[in-house]
Amino acid sequence: MENCIFCKIIRKEMPADLKYESDTVVVFPDINPSADIHLLIVPKKHIGGIKDLNESHGLLLAEIFQVASKLAAENNLENGLYRVAVNAGKAQHVPHLHFHLLGGQWKKMI
Ligand code: 5GP
Ligand code: ZN
Repeated sequence: MENCIFCKIIRKEMPADLKYESDTVVVFPDINPSADIHLLIVPKKHIGGIKDLNESHGLLLAEIFQVASKLAAENNLENGLYRVAVNAGKAQHVPHLHFHLLGGQWKKMI
């Protein structure tokens, strides 16, 4: 996807402070955080949103939640307040599937 912001970050054409990278997933902080800890967990493959998911994405989704759990632990959130959220429809602003890991004090709704 030529002009997709998250594809550009994944291709390293745009800067981001990568907190995790595997063959299939990257994680970087949200540029406009809504909580003390606000990371975006993003599949490397361009998938528009949850409407584009099917059973072939099962392993990818499992990896995403494993990565969310690992990063929650690394950020000392495991026994605190945190959540993993996905926006869709008009609530989704970047049309490349991503999962928000939010922890600590909430500043605003994502
Ligand atoms: P959505 O509303 O699509 O669920 O969330 C998109 C998120 O991406 C927003 O929280 C927004 O702050 C973040 N975002 C948008 N552009 C960039 C960017 O260029 N870099 C980073 N790190 N985050 C971005
Ligand atoms: Zn993309």
